[in-house]
Amino acid sequence: MMIHVDVPTRTREQFVNITGQVQQAVQKLGIVDGAVTVFVPHTTCGVTVNENADPHVVSDMLQQLDRMVPLRQPFYEHAEGNSAAHLKASLMGCSLHLIVTCGHLELGVWQGIYLCEFDGPRMRRVCVA
Ligand code: ZN
Repeated sequence: MMIHVDVPTRTREQFVNITGQVQQAVQKLGIVDGAVTVFVPHTTCGVTVNENADPHVVSDMLQQLDRMVPLRQPFYEHAEGNSAAHLKASLMGCSLHLIVTCGHLELGVWQGIYLCEFDGPRMRRVCVA
């Protein structure tokens, strides 16, 4: 069984905290003790776990990713013009494998699950199984 979570993004680049939606999906799936996979079926967004307390952490990550992967490069050949988004998506990865105990995601106190948008705004889909 798999649950789809639809996540709207509002800007070109944005980290959206989806911890609550993933936790709800874990409960709907009836996973008590085990593991869950979170997968984004996209090529210009990713998924990651990082700090959920200070919003500057994700804004710092976005700024540093921009420095590592500039929006425009003279050698980009991808005709769609969004090579930077594809590169950043691969840096973040497209799936997570998380532990579930007693029906709850086993995350650290400061950890949250983020959908990492790099080519928004648009509606994204997250698969939880
Ligand atoms: Zn593309």
